[in-house]
Parts: sequence; structure tokens; C-alpha cells
Amino acid sequence: MTCKNCKTNPVITLTNSNVKLCKSCFVKYFERKVAKGIEKYKIIEKNDKISIACSGGKDSFTLLYLLNKYAEKKKSIEILVIAIDEGIHGYRDLKLLERYCKDNKLPLYVYSYKKEFGDSLDGILKKNPIRSCSICGVLRRFLLNSKARELGANKLATGHNLDDEAQSIIMNTFKGNLKRSAILGPITGIVKDKRFVRRIKPLYFMLEKEVKTYAFLKNFPVKFSECPYSNDAYRGEIRDYLNEIENKHPGTKHAIVNSFLDILPILKERFKNETINSCNICGEPCSGNICNVCKLLEKVNLKRKPTKT
Ligand code: SF4
Ligand SMILES: [Zn+2]
Ligand SMILES: [Zn+2]
Repeated sequence: MTCKNCKTNPVITLTNSNVKLCKSCFVKYFERKVAKGIEKYKIIEKNDKISIACSGGKDSFTLLYLLNKYAEKKKSIEILVIAIDEGIHGYRDLKLLERYCKDNKLPLYVYSYKKEFGDSLDGILKKNPIRSCSICGVLRRFLLNSKARELGANKLATGHNLDDEAQSIIMNTFKGNLKRSAILGPITGIVKDKRFVRRIKPLYFMLEKEVKTYAFLKNFPVKFSECPYSNDAYRGEIRDYLNEIENKHPGTKHAIVNSFLDILPILKERFKNETINSCNICGEPCSGNICNVCKLLEKVNLKRKPTKT
């Protein structure tokens, strides 16, 4: 079988249509589909200042490359890059990202747990019997939001793809947590609050397999390694389960996300009156009296550097 358009060797078969595409047709298909999602859901608008969260993985390099291209075309858009160094020996290495940003004249801001909270993730986990991903995820989300805000960005772009979204929808459904699903979507959040920088997911409609293929064909300097602390076992189980079903019934992941998008406006409406409080300790937005960051830092005996609002 050859490429549907130009009869040369295919590099991928699109899961939901069984169409085969060669390298150049796939690259065009991928870029067009990302651009279409951005336009349709108004993920990026005129005069946006977008802070791009980058870990140096395939998703974030793809995101960075495409948003840079987009910003070059739409002159009113400004982009900057934020990377978080958790302090994981032998794993988090931002050198390739630093080189890429320098070569492409992209402003890069790196923040470390060590500087911002007083210890690296390695150090925290050595001293405290605590689940790695739960503390790491909370600290990273906090830094990305507060630093994007400090840098004057009105949007924070992340590299989440369609597989990530399908997993989150299923996990929240299985756990009966509709409120958590209400914050999902190509633009996250329910209630607007100036302390929250709106999170956007430009790769929302792209399968993980497609992002991987695109990053490989584009030869991005991606380092493929797994975090030694990764312990989100439930997400791993759901990921394997969805991959298995997708193999048997191609198109399942798209169907999950598309039907979710149909009910998302109802979910957002249902939870739109949720109040946002201010943390009694740090003043950051939270649902209770003390935010998750303060609760976790107290547990591990650390303090964070004050942030500018
Ligand atoms: S896998 Fe878990 S511990 Fe490792 S970087 Fe991701 S959130 Fe942090
Ligand atoms: Zn072709
Ligand atoms: Zn707090």
C-alpha cells in the first residue's frame, strides 16, 4: 500500500480513517490539523502572550516548534518558554532544550524546585515517605502558573495530546469525579480568575502516536527516557487499557474525546458557580482555606519563595 496522495512509501496509517500517508503528506496533515483545532476552538487569539511549558520531551518540542511557526505567521502573538527543573538526577536534563531555544532565539526561563522551594525532588523524596508524582505534579503546576503570570503571559500552553485527554476523561469517569472533568478541554478551567493563567492544549486533537511520528520525522533533539519516580499506576493502567481497545476498535480514543467535547459545555455550566478562595498562607487561589502547595510543603517541611502577583 502506498501514500493516499502521492503513491510513495507511507510512514503512518491514520487510525480513524485507515488512510496511509508518506512523510511529507503526514507532516502537512499534522500541521493542518493542529492549526484547524487552534482556529476552531479559539485556542490562540490575537495579541496573546503565550508561555509554553517545555520539558524537553517529544510533545513539548512539537508544541514549541509549531507555536513558534504560528507566532512567526501571526505577528501579534508573543511566545516565551518555561522549563521546570525538578532536580531528578540522571533524568531531567534541559541542555538540548536550552540549545534549541538559543538557536531559535526563543526566550527560555528555567525554574528549579531547589531554588523555588529549597530542595530538589531527589532531596524531598529522600527525606519524606511521600508519593513522588502527587507532590511533583502540584509543585510543577504551581510554578508554571505563577511564573507565567509573573512573566505577563495570558496563556500557558502545554503539550497534552488526545491520548492524555482520553485517559483523563476515563479516569475521572471511573472515579466519579465530574468536577475534575469540567476543567478539561482544549482550553482548561471553568471560572475565570486573573490569578489563573488560562491553560491551552494546541495538540489536543493529535494522537500520541502521531506526535511521536512528527517529532521523529522532524528530528527534534528529544531525549527518550522515563522518570525513575514515575508512580502514577492508575493512569498507566488506563493508558494500557485504552491502547488495547484502540487496537481492537480503531477510533475509540477520538470517539471518547469527541463525545466528551459535546457534553463539556454542560459540565462547565454545572460547575460555574464554584467559588475560588484565597489560601490563608500564601494568597494563591484554591478551593478550600489552604492550597495544596502549602499543605504539601508543610508536610515536607519546606517553604516557597514568595511570588509576585
Ligand atoms: S513522573 Fe512523576 S515524579 Fe517524574 S517528573 Fe513526572 S510527575 Fe514528577
Ligand atoms: Zn504522500
Ligand atoms: Zn498556599
